[in-house]
Amino acid sequence: PTQTLSEMMSASVKAFGRRPALEFFGAVTTYRDLGEQIERAAEGLRRIGVGKGDRVALVLPNCPQHVVAFYAALRLGAIVVEHNPLYTPRELRHQFEDHGARVAIVWDKAVDNVADFPADLKIEHIVSVDITAAMPISKRLALRLPVPKARAARAKLTGTPKARHLVAWKQLVSHKRLSRRVAGPRLGDTALLQYTSGTTGTPKGAILTHSNLRANAMQGRAWVPGLVDGEETFYAVLPLFHAYGMTLCLTFAMSIGARLVLFPAFDLGLVTEAARSSPPTFLPAVPPIYDALARAASRGTIDLSTVRFAISGAMSLPVATVQRWEEATGGLLVEGYGMTESSPVALGNPMGTTRRPGTVGVPFPSTEIRVVDPADPAVDMPAGERGELLVRGPQIFQGYWRRPGDTADALLADGWLRTGDIAEVSADGFVTIVDRLKELIITGGFNVSPSEVESALEAHPDVVAAAVVGLPRSSGSEEVAAAVVLREGAELNADALRDFCRTRLTPYKVPRRITVVDDLPRSLIGKVLRRQVREQLLA
Ligand code: ATP
Ligand code: MG
Repeated sequence: PTQTLSEMMSASVKAFGRRPALEFFGAVTTYRDLGEQIERAAEGLRRIGVGKGDRVALVLPNCPQHVVAFYAALRLGAIVVEHNPLYTPRELRHQFEDHGARVAIVWDKAVDNVADFPADLKIEHIVSVDITAAMPISKRLALRLPVPKARAARAKLTGTPKARHLVAWKQLVSHKRLSRRVAGPRLGDTALLQYTSGTTGTPKGAILTHSNLRANAMQGRAWVPGLVDGEETFYAVLPLFHAYGMTLCLTFAMSIGARLVLFPAFDLGLVTEAARSSPPTFLPAVPPIYDALARAASRGTIDLSTVRFAISGAMSLPVATVQRWEEATGGLLVEGYGMTESSPVALGNPMGTTRRPGTVGVPFPSTEIRVVDPADPAVDMPAGERGELLVRGPQIFQGYWRRPGDTADALLADGWLRTGDIAEVSADGFVTIVDRLKELIITGGFNVSPSEVESALEAHPDVVAAAVVGLPRSSGSEEVAAAVVLREGAELNADALRDFCRTRLTPYKVPRRITVVDDLPRSLIGKVLRRQVREQLLA
């Protein structure tokens, strides 16, 4: 049956009642309890005026209240808007100005950042969440987490605009259950406004319906062989406020009655401790996390041999990471590809020995792809040639919130999504992501792919990581420039490094400028932000 996310949750509450749904620092919430809390929180939200189509802002790390708040808002037909709780007040404000939510459910450590917004932002209710309340008492004191940047002065809520009420989470869930007579959402209703990562510009709010998100969870289910309903243990080390964690951890886990172990941030110590009592079977993450876990597993400090499915996405997965993981755990690590606009998964490698490291695999079930000329997306590239990747399927979004221009650029009339990524398809259908179109370097005549140059630099034993960008030249073309992180104790010899590159790259691709940096700027999920590298090199 085709269900909304709310109906899927109700079905799981019925089917898996006494089984664990959530685990947080060892504290377990069963499906039945989760269902009860969702209905109560929904009643609490209804009483403060939340209804169909209203935006409900969540500014929360991974915690049980995050899951309850998400499904409670959906139950009322409201639209959840996710935010990174570590965002600065300024970054948050831009998003609130954009979506105009009047109710925000906020980590208590970030409440000041939201309470202080100017009065023209019509936030009426702020629900403050103490995540430690969901933890066993013994764990609360030891909790050390990255928290939002401290502000100059603590906001006094009395000093904020009169109409802004502060509600404690406890109050919100103190009501009786929502009446069954309150209509739930429909399949075509918007469920989530999910901001993109902002790698290439300002984050844009992608409109995702129940139908989109449900489709992606179901596609995932069809993709992964041998999942046992009610028996799996998913680890949410990825943030739920990003599309990747939202679908691969949360909605997917809830749809199959899995136990979802929530981590408020990735922390090797926390994962090691959790793995002793609740060994993971399904662990979606990103390459830097797999590297850290594989190192610990080969040292013998964590046992990850129970992980049957490890799925990497969001950035390219180095083949070396795959080898490290597979040697250390004995399981498979496979790569997928997607974007916020596709709920997010669009392609994936087969979950078995036919997967192909270095590629992002093949289209997901009921997903089609094309490779087109970026200058004219109506024109397909000849087979095997690089071009812009287009994707079509039930998981593709409805457009960007209040950005008709961007929507028209990204969504073609016949339902194809322009990914903005350059891809190549092998004769047997495996897709390789080459680079982002926007990040190609135009040196005059030839385009240079930054990731190709980065791989050449990173092959040098002294280079730990590299980011390559184009810097403007007076001629209007761009110069290839690199920021490199060196191995400890190594010193830069730019000429020698360029000579090394010349053995792997044609001369016009070799970086003219090479700058040593301590670290590369990365997004919260770990993507290198080439845009910021460019700004740094220009400064
Ligand atoms: P913005 O759209 O705001 O500039 P963003 O594109 O980084 O930011 P996301 O939707 O989080 O925001 O990321 C989608 C992008 O991530 C894809 O378009 C692609 O460039 C990149 N990506 C995802 N998976 C992979 C992968 N396996 N390999 C390489 N790149 C990937
Ligand atoms: Mg994007």
